[in-house]
Amino acid sequence: MTKKRIIRNAVRCKSCLAIIESKTTHDITFCSCGKVGVDGGHDYLRRVGSLEDYEELTEWVSM
Ligand SMILES: [Zn+2]
Repeated sequence: MTKKRIIRNAVRCKSCLAIIESKTTHDITFCSCGKVGVDGGHDYLRRVGSLEDYEELTEWVSM
């Protein structure tokens, strides 16, 4: 079984076009219009806001 690890926890807000990235576990970051947020750093993906409001930019690497 292959384990995957998050190397980049990021989204782009479709409203303000800001790219936001959560770099550490409890680092919750919001875009400039406040519609979407990311959290979880490299441990898990947590999203604030609606799926249709952002574009997923997360990158994974296989261990
Ligand atoms: Zn925004």
